[in-house]
Amino acid sequence: MSKLRFKVVESAFEKKVEETSVPDKRVSEYYGSHVFNRAKMFKYLPEKIYEKLVDCIDNNTPLDRETANAVAAGMKKWALEMGVTHYTHWFHPLTEGTAEKHDAFIEHDGKGGVIEEFEGKLLIQQEPDASSFPSGGIRNTFEARGYSAWDPSSPAFIIGDTLCIPTIFIAYTGESLDYKAPLLKALESVNKAAVDVCHYFDPSVKKVYAYLGWEQEYFLVDEGLYAARPDLLMTGRTLMGHESSKNQQLEDHYFGAIPPRVLEFMKELEIESLKLGIPVKTRHNEVAPNQFELAPIFEECNLANDHNLLVMALMRNIARKHGFRVLLHEKPFKGVNGSGKHNNWSLGTDTGTLLMAPGKTPTENLRFVTFIVNVLKAVHTHNALLKASISSATNAHRLGANEAPPAIISCFLGSQLSAVLDHLEKSETEDFILAGKQGLKLDIARIPELLIDNTDRNRTSPFAFTGNRFEFRAVGSSANCASAMLALNAAVADQLKQFKAAVDAKIASGIDKFAAIVEELRDVAKSCKAIHFDGNGYSEEWKEEAARRGLDCETSVPLIFDAYLSESSVNMFESTGVMTRLELKARNEVKWEMYTKKIQIEARVLGDLAMNHIIPMALKYQSSLIDNVYKMKDLFPADKAAYLSSKNMEIIEEIANHTIFIKEKVDEMVEKRKVANKILSEREKAIAYHDSIVPLMEAIRYHIDKLELTVDDQIWTLPKYRELLFIR
Ligand code: ADP
Ligand code: MG
Repeated sequence: MSKLRFKVVESAFEKKVEETSVPDKRVSEYYGSHVFNRAKMFKYLPEKIYEKLVDCIDNNTPLDRETANAVAAGMKKWALEMGVTHYTHWFHPLTEGTAEKHDAFIEHDGKGGVIEEFEGKLLIQQEPDASSFPSGGIRNTFEARGYSAWDPSSPAFIIGDTLCIPTIFIAYTGESLDYKAPLLKALESVNKAAVDVCHYFDPSVKKVYAYLGWEQEYFLVDEGLYAARPDLLMTGRTLMGHESSKNQQLEDHYFGAIPPRVLEFMKELEIESLKLGIPVKTRHNEVAPNQFELAPIFEECNLANDHNLLVMALMRNIARKHGFRVLLHEKPFKGVNGSGKHNNWSLGTDTGTLLMAPGKTPTENLRFVTFIVNVLKAVHTHNALLKASISSATNAHRLGANEAPPAIISCFLGSQLSAVLDHLEKSETEDFILAGKQGLKLDIARIPELLIDNTDRNRTSPFAFTGNRFEFRAVGSSANCASAMLALNAAVADQLKQFKAAVDAKIASGIDKFAAIVEELRDVAKSCKAIHFDGNGYSEEWKEEAARRGLDCETSVPLIFDAYLSESSVNMFESTGVMTRLELKARNEVKWEMYTKKIQIEARVLGDLAMNHIIPMALKYQSSLIDNVYKMKDLFPADKAAYLSSKNMEIIEEIANHTIFIKEKVDEMVEKRKVANKILSEREKAIAYHDSIVPLMEAIRYHIDKLELTVDDQIWTLPKYRELLFIR
């Protein structure tokens, strides 16, 4: 190991880990301490105001200015007691992560001093200087300004000395410029559509919630090693690096104990999350070395998503305190597992029923089958769109690679649920519905209350039924879940609306309600059979089979994004009121631009590293070999010297071949970038980057990784996989 590397490793281990801030309290004593939740609203707001706010949160009633002022006053009082000095509107722009602009609570008091001020108008709406956030041209074309507006359904919270107010971010002309606004619309549309369908089975249902339980995977890397890898630092992933001789073959990390330094990090992360009312529950090692997972208890989708974004931010900060860097990239290391963020998703009613869980009575089971079949249909119709919703330059490395779902969307159902659907398709309505004492009885009452076989989950499925929910596993670890969740909830809402219309038409023509439902379900189930696949999603045969079934098999990310603009997607988003064609177009501009920028940065970093690190290191080693060959000639007779130097001569030549290839391809890559950069259309530019730059990067990497195996370790200054992955 070179001196340089040895030093960085040591320095990171020397770092003192700070004590976590809540020592000996029970979780229940500090859970939600930093959130303006209902208990705090009740304590800090006058009763009438509290009631109005709760009504606004629960029933979407508008907030008048007077109420907003009173809420702001209560919030401010609480925040000042907590030592807060600033407030910010916290929003989710179309880039990654979250954005905020901090303002102090102060205003002139008119007497030369200042007072702490925070009025309702500042709570409700603000105009962040948003010109630098991507809008896909919406703000340029229509109206220069955008504003952020309070989302009362997600409570305000405190981080450090700042009161954070969750907001949506929209253009003055009304188009959304963020992830939250369309997510809220999608949740509202699925609520309406699902309530209507629920009424066939239970007229008392008033509201349907979409639930999200995410499982966040991540890698930790020692800070010192991270600093010595410019590619990790600049792009979040290693652009080069040969597989370690040992990586995850033994799967010993998955079952192993959590390393102590990691455990300290996890504990602090959990405490800080709990203070913010994030119900974190599960922590464990993942399959790859230095890979871990954190999962909370599921929550209402909008809140769960805010919480995921917060956790990602907390992870980044807290990791640094413990001498780590957290990698949220989907594929930081080639050859070992990537990181995903499974999105466990379900619908549930205000009466406490999970709609995708089997029930006890025939009616409940018909309701269960109804929701399952409609979800399958929505996923089938919009499989290309759902894939687009999880696609990005970074997730592209993960999908289709080690232990990751393929770039094809299909649904796993398990043998029991498959049997139920088979039965539905094959039976006549009369078989499926058996007349009993109380009128109609359905033989689907045979559905067991617990679908046990779904616990032995098929890990190769991107969208799997797991007993009472679906698990959307293709979501990337760095993604904002809202992208997938708004597409899924809107698609399901649209399908439920169509289902309801068809059933109502049948009922209007005189068919009995339950018979109408069963008939329609049978047709729907038959029409979306192609989406159901319980086999091995990693296999080559599945790719061929999926293509035969007409599922979207596109693997180029810029082309995958086209699915957002297909007529079927635009119609679906417009009819559910989630997004307009204009918004969809603008968002795609942003997606293509982001794709290009990511690849552009990676290509530059790779080029720099190749020229400034790799080739010089290789030539240095090569020179020492050449030196050795000459010295052999001095020492031995020519014949013997030639024999003794023969292997070194081979290595000298091998190094030359690699460095020549690398230099040529780096030059070619620069030229190809120049050509691509001149393209005006964002879509065409992204396609050019995908088609002409990405393959070159892979070719260059191959040769660099070969050099890594050849060149003297003393000379190789970049930390290797065995260090990055095994030092904790
Ligand atoms: P796994 O076996 O996949 O690790 P867990 O039981 O740990 O599954 O749950 C993973 C996530 O799924 C958790 O966030 C959990 O709260 C969530 N979850 C469980 N039931 C539901 C549901 N009905 N809807 C949404 N999320 C759910
Ligand atoms: Mg899971």
